[in-house]
Amino acid sequence: MNDALVFALLFSAVACGWWLGRRGSARLNSTAAGLPSQYYRGLNYLLDGRPDGAIDHFISALEVNSETLETHIALGNVLRRRGEVDRAIRIHQNLLARPDLPRVQMHLAHLELARDYIGAGLLDRAERLLLDLVTESDEQRDVSRQHLLEIYRSESEWAQAIEQAQALLPRKGLLRSASPELHLSGQSVAVQMAHFYCELALELSASGNIDEARKALVRALESDSGCARAALELGKLEAAAGNHKRAIEALSRVESQDPDFLPEAIPPLRESYRALAEEQALAEYLSSCFDKHPSTPLMIAVADDILRDRGSDAARDFLASRLARVPSLRGLLKLIRLQQKPPATDTPEPTDSLSMLSMLLDRLIEERPAYRCEHCGFSAKHLLWFCPGCKYWGTFRTIRTTQTE
Ligand SMILES: [Zn+2]
Repeated sequence: MNDALVFALLFSAVACGWWLGRRGSARLNSTAAGLPSQYYRGLNYLLDGRPDGAIDHFISALEVNSETLETHIALGNVLRRRGEVDRAIRIHQNLLARPDLPRVQMHLAHLELARDYIGAGLLDRAERLLLDLVTESDEQRDVSRQHLLEIYRSESEWAQAIEQAQALLPRKGLLRSASPELHLSGQSVAVQMAHFYCELALELSASGNIDEARKALVRALESDSGCARAALELGKLEAAAGNHKRAIEALSRVESQDPDFLPEAIPPLRESYRALAEEQALAEYLSSCFDKHPSTPLMIAVADDILRDRGSDAARDFLASRLARVPSLRGLLKLIRLQQKPPATDTPEPTDSLSMLSMLLDRLIEERPAYRCEHCGFSAKHLLWFCPGCKYWGTFRTIRTTQTE
């Protein structure tokens, strides 16, 4: 019923526009005051609850002029939102077939047609229209770039996505009030661009182009100095290249960028500190991180260091005292595993019970999502840098509850 109402309103609006326009431009035409029979037929379809036929008659019946243009566009947009992209495309193409359409309105119709193509998955066609608009339309340039950015992101064309993002950012020294710092999705363009550089770096690194990959990661950090992903990737890249001091330098940025990502930095940090034979320095660093930003993964990392340096009794005491304050499943599993020592004895009874408990806990933890998007709540077992739910970048965080962490 709501759709029928919308269509009825749109019909009335266009018909009035058509009638007024026709009366004004063709004073001598005695039939000018009448509406075309196609209009009535369309209205009949509408009243019969068959809007599909109504739209077809509407498209073929009513002329486009400056008074009716906005309504034509609105009707096309309603159809697109309803998923009837083919019809939306016909309406917007119909507008573009009018050579006398003012330039600004022509560009608006172009933009809507590009949106229809995106809705229909015809990204090549949308891209061509949007690139034309970037060149030709001052009014639609930024919004066209935002759509292009979205197209290139969905096609993993990172260099082109970066190019559009770069153009959308305010130029240094210039106040571009019309330039949106926020993308259509609502997320900052600079934040997105940092992730595009990270994606590009991964591709470059996979093809053996380490120098270019490093440059891309440095640019990611220039775009968004708070991008923990870029610091993590740079650390991993330097560690793989044997530059362990540089790796540690990059990975140490994570704490000030976003301590929630510290657990991701632990394995590469261990690798680099081990390579430099400075494991004691890492133990001190992790311990200070745990004091400032307590979390289960850091607690387990500190327990591992205590186990190595002071033995299992000290590690068990440390875990038991921390878990008494903030219980967590992963922490409990770690404690049970420490308890399981020594593994090979001739007294299987208690060891078996603990093994069973540890196996069950393991399965319980495995079945639960460990990460959640803090923007839309989408959850996953693994860390995702791009949220499939809300299309935001870098919004996944470890789920911090005693039930899952
Ligand atoms: Zn999300």
